[in-house]
Amino acid sequence: MDKQKILASLPAVDEVLKSVKGLAWQRSFPRRYVLQAIREVIEEKRRLILDGGATDIDTGHFEAEIESRAARLSAFSLRRVINATGVVIHTNLGRSLLSRDVLDHVCEIASSYSNLEYDLGRGRRGKRYSHIQRLIRDITGAEDGLIVNNNAAAVLVCLNTLARGREVVVSRGELVEIGGAFRIPDVMSASGAILREVGTTNRTHLFDYERAIGEQTALLLKVHQSNFRIIGFTEEVSIAEMVTLGKKSSLPVMFDLGSGCLTDFRPVGITIETTVQEVVRAGADLVTFSGDKLLGGPQGGVIAGKSEIIERIARNPLMRAVRIDKLTLAAFEATLMKYLDDETARNSIPTLRMIFQDPAVIRKRAQRIARLLRSGLAGAAGEGVTVAVVAETSQSGGGALPEIEFRTFAVSVRSAHLSAHAIEERLRRGTPPVIARIREEALIIDARTVQDNEIGLLTDALVAALTPRSA
Ligand SMILES: *Cc1c(COP(=O)(O)O)cnc(C)c1O
Repeated sequence: MDKQKILASLPAVDEVLKSVKGLAWQRSFPRRYVLQAIREVIEEKRRLILDGGATDIDTGHFEAEIESRAARLSAFSLRRVINATGVVIHTNLGRSLLSRDVLDHVCEIASSYSNLEYDLGRGRRGKRYSHIQRLIRDITGAEDGLIVNNNAAAVLVCLNTLARGREVVVSRGELVEIGGAFRIPDVMSASGAILREVGTTNRTHLFDYERAIGEQTALLLKVHQSNFRIIGFTEEVSIAEMVTLGKKSSLPVMFDLGSGCLTDFRPVGITIETTVQEVVRAGADLVTFSGDKLLGGPQGGVIAGKSEIIERIARNPLMRAVRIDKLTLAAFEATLMKYLDDETARNSIPTLRMIFQDPAVIRKRAQRIARLLRSGLAGAAGEGVTVAVVAETSQSGGGALPEIEFRTFAVSVRSAHLSAHAIEERLRRGTPPVIARIREEALIIDARTVQDNEIGLLTDALVAALTPRSA
């Protein structure tokens, strides 16, 4: 058949749109994407024919291509993934998960009107932040508190309120970059405050702060070395010593804690993470921390501290630009309530539950994944595939506890036909996508961060990824 004849057999866009299939697609997908898919597939076929690569039109194949393209165009971009990395607070994968009961409260608030800024007792305008102030006070021991969009915003608005046009003294060992665009010197200049660095990278003494204090000083700032540690010949000034100095010099002291740890980690043998309560007890005027790191809530930034300063911050016009929405507020209140009891917090906040998880429980989950995977692979797919449960270590992530390697268990998968990288890519591109790591040419599925209700989906995805594909 000559090219012109084949080209003539290509249907017109309108024809496909009005066909039985075309009408069905328009019921499942937005019309504009059905149209785009038809146009693109016809155009590709036309080019293929002109290049001599196609000798006829396979209608079945043609329709399947349009349908899958329309489906792809209409799919959500932001999707669930299965986190098999073992990193609990994975910033790229959305940090903390919210529990079902927290989400139920969010649903109720989001689908109804609420007293967001309405004082039900007085029948007039109320304050958005009033809903979490008592909880922040009761849990952290601070006099008052606010919540803004994230911790970066919390630091920004605090610096802007207290130190615009004046100096903030910070140790050179604490000029951290958190990843993404958060760097202390940059946030400082964005806030209009002037950075006054003191000490050296590894050692900063109290006298370094003392000598830097002058007419222009507005604030002493301590920043948590969230995602790194300096070891060896080191010296840092404690928040308690800074508070003493602040009192002596009549200067406020602020601690950017980063990861807001509200629970004692000693039960799992971790003593190094400073809790928010400890910082408040030490007398810091302000402490800021994230809502979705160790706290295990929604994205947000908590500012806790002395009433007089919190009131000044609340009046800053920037607060309007960094304020949280009602969904976040609802999730925050429901999450903070769990902290009224330490045990409840550890058992019902997913982030804490995963971090505190008994390795024996993780091993059981890994064994279950391995068992289901082996039975799913029985037959052709399983040829040349080895599946084993292995002891591993994982990190908490989220710029917290960087030096701690948590004992964990993982399923290690190797295939004689596919490299670990090829399996990893297939999993990543699957539905739902599975994010795993590779170690010594084996694919590692860390059971710590796999939810129990995801195990079936995970093993199905693994079987699909390991199954040889016919060309
Ligand atoms: C993570 C972190 C931030 C940024 O917090 P976000 O909630 O991600 O905006 C700021 N400071 C420190 C010390 C941190 O660890």
